[in-house]
Amino acid sequence: MSAATSPTALRALLKNYGLTPKKGLGQHFLWESRVVERIAGAADLSKKDVVLEIGPGLGILTAALARQAGLVIAVEIDRNLFPLLKENLKDYDNIRLVQGDARTVDFGALLQEYAPGFTGSCKVLGNLPYYITSPLIMRLLDGGFRKELLVFMVQKEVAERIAASPGGKEYGSLSVAVQYSADPQLLFQVPPHAFYPPPEVSSAVIRLNCRKRPAVDVKDEATFFKVVRASFRYRRKTLKNALREAGLWDPTKENIFEEAGILPGRRGETLDLVEFARLADVLLQTQERTEE
Ligand code: SAM
Repeated sequence: MSAATSPTALRALLKNYGLTPKKGLGQHFLWESRVVERIAGAADLSKKDVVLEIGPGLGILTAALARQAGLVIAVEIDRNLFPLLKENLKDYDNIRLVQGDARTVDFGALLQEYAPGFTGSCKVLGNLPYYITSPLIMRLLDGGFRKELLVFMVQKEVAERIAASPGGKEYGSLSVAVQYSADPQLLFQVPPHAFYPPPEVSSAVIRLNCRKRPAVDVKDEATFFKVVRASFRYRRKTLKNALREAGLWDPTKENIFEEAGILPGRRGETLDLVEFARLADVLLQTQERTEE
């Protein structure tokens, strides 16, 4: 690829193609090949792997992935980047570039179209546009196709929230939701100067190892996530008040806390996934008993 190995070279390359980075699309392009190689290296790729890449941009990570994986399917929203992206990747025959929005594209259908014989679990990577990080990660974890792991560059604070343990201020709904389906590993930080243009925040690379089964067994996922969301929506309140305010628990009815073995004066942010699961299951049981 026409490698831009400095911010100045990258700016000149963009200028040649009449492009300016779009802030609204989170366009901060990596130019440091050392960082790129570390991201690609974090996915333990081999030629048997099919990779989905989110937001290839100018293709610097795409090329590194294509050197190690069997096939790379890369989804980029900005059609204006395609002439330069295609030029940069013209030497690779194992890359499929798709113009589309990662928030809505059907990844399962893309895999069927471009890797019809592939029966394994794919790997998902990307230097993510920060404006959609959390919903995109949840969408990718939820759905519709088999994956083994995800490696993402995200805002450092988001990486810390995803990997947080109970008790700290970073621990919240995002931590629980991701940890329900995956085991997160914070890998390394990347300073703003590794990108052109540099973002205002520091970044970090996180690896999410997908679980074969959710981290906890729950009777009903919807109830589990309702309890989790309510507990963190009113962070400063006790669990009992948070669930009451969310309309999930009526204090005049059964004492779900006693039955779940959880003190009602605790705050949601101190509960681990097992405790959230227990509380949600008891809540569901009491609701079912009331309906009988
Ligand atoms: N991978 C490149 C790199 O590391 O230099 C670019 C990373 S840049 C942070 C994010 C990329 O995601 C941009 O190319 C941007 O246009 C693209 N993007 C933004 N929103 C997107 C969306 N909804 N779906 C797909 N790509 C998107």
